[in-house]
Amino acid sequence: MQTKYIFVTGGVLSSLGKGIAAASIATLLKSAGLKVSILKCDPYINVDPGTMSPLEHGEVFVTDDGAETDLDLGHYERFLGENLSQLNNFTTGRVYSSVIEKERRGDYLGKTIQVIPHITGEIISRIKDAGEGKDILIVEIGGTVGDIEGLPFLESIRMLGGELGHENAMFIHLTLVPYIKAAGELKTKPTQHSVGELRRIGIIPDMLICRSEQSLGRELKDKLAASCGVAKNCVIESCDQPSIYQVPLSFEAQGILDAISGKLALGELRADMSEWNELVKRVVAPAHEITIAFVGKYTDLKESYKSLTEALIHAGAATDTRVNLKWVDSEKLEPNTAESMLKDCAGILVAGGFGLRGVSGMMEAAKYVRTTNTPYLGICLGMQIALIEFARSVLGIKDASSAEFDKSCSEPVIYLIDSFIDASGAKQIRTHVSPLGGTMRLGGYECHCAPGSLLSKCYGGANLIKERHRHRYEANPLYRERLENAGMKISGESDGLIEAAEIPEHKFFLGVQFHPEFTSRLKEPNPAILGFIKACCAR
Ligand code: GLN
Repeated sequence: MQTKYIFVTGGVLSSLGKGIAAASIATLLKSAGLKVSILKCDPYINVDPGTMSPLEHGEVFVTDDGAETDLDLGHYERFLGENLSQLNNFTTGRVYSSVIEKERRGDYLGKTIQVIPHITGEIISRIKDAGEGKDILIVEIGGTVGDIEGLPFLESIRMLGGELGHENAMFIHLTLVPYIKAAGELKTKPTQHSVGELRRIGIIPDMLICRSEQSLGRELKDKLAASCGVAKNCVIESCDQPSIYQVPLSFEAQGILDAISGKLALGELRADMSEWNELVKRVVAPAHEITIAFVGKYTDLKESYKSLTEALIHAGAATDTRVNLKWVDSEKLEPNTAESMLKDCAGILVAGGFGLRGVSGMMEAAKYVRTTNTPYLGICLGMQIALIEFARSVLGIKDASSAEFDKSCSEPVIYLIDSFIDASGAKQIRTHVSPLGGTMRLGGYECHCAPGSLLSKCYGGANLIKERHRHRYEANPLYRERLENAGMKISGESDGLIEAAEIPEHKFFLGVQFHPEFTSRLKEPNPAILGFIKACCAR
């Protein structure tokens, strides 16, 4: 079957949940038996979001093949239940750098290089690559219609839509239908303007998805259909929901599959969402409830831990538990405040992070759990912190630290390794010169689990697992023997690197160098995170 394309654009405002809408459509189409993939095009100039501050851009999601991508890729994977790759996200910066590289090589045979056709050509060829071998590719264009930087992308999908023909391309436009309190009314005008803007650049939407606080009702849907020139069954509402995982179910109930099938000539589509439906019930109204402490320095920016907060929801659905998070700002955690800030929590999580800020508070949290036998999951930086705290308090190495916090540290329990094997199997030498962009250990690596360890038990007794990484520093093997003799067991290893540490005597004390949250899905919660939540529930 020739690949069919669904292009998703956004209008009126950003942050309307285009990624969730695109992922929801992909989920329904996949449940109806189609081979679906999804692509995010980001109009910003950064080559990838790896160098952006989490304050600017939320989480950097890491794919199995080691690409640092937009956080929407995380939603796509969690909804679709599939690994995506670097083919599934690209930016303007990436497009320009490959066009410029080709120009320098002389590939364009003396031509003047222009936005049209060269930049658009590069965009189109990347879209086609992502669609290769799929029945349907969903292409989400980042940003909002009207953004200057988005124009080459819109022009590209307009051209591609024309080339593909009527039954192979569909345009979905997501807009906001605001509720004006004073008038007591939902307003359709912003959507009409946004569709007008889209038509001006040559794209006629086939479907509208309307975000709103309230249900639109038939009358408003019909009004939008008439004023925006789409079929009546192609106006889909997307009301605020308690859980993002309800969105596909709501779309399905409005007949979105029939509407898509009508446009793309896909025949009758029936999605089997029964398992999903059961899980969503447990997300929305679970039988149990616990509170865990989430210790980090970006507690004001929950978007930067998106995958982790979603992974906790997945583990909650699997255990029929609402996992409430108490966001604990590590900069406020001190020896005399740790107990009062943490004692009402069933477990404590220290998540990944960079830099020195907030680290001493994380160390206090690690000490608190160790001495009170409270379940602990330390992820990436959280594992490094646990080892440093243990080295300081139990081994008495008072200068123990990480080379990240103190370059000339005399006891680098966590150190900067200068070479490692990357996800493709190639040896990478760290440059040290530029600490930013492409100098991290990224992507999926296999990890050997010690038999009988807590880590292995979490993964159902597995001795080999694969999880994703995003870090520069590592636990220093020089301290291994001393740590182990004092009761901190190294339970995970990969090519000689220390990947996990645990205290066997403790109820649940696990530190992992990888980021388990990146592989968690609603239908398949990550085993390490699930193990932690189960330990918290048991408490
Ligand atoms: N900053 C630490 C490192 O680079 C941990 C990174 C992380 O938590 N993702 O090794």
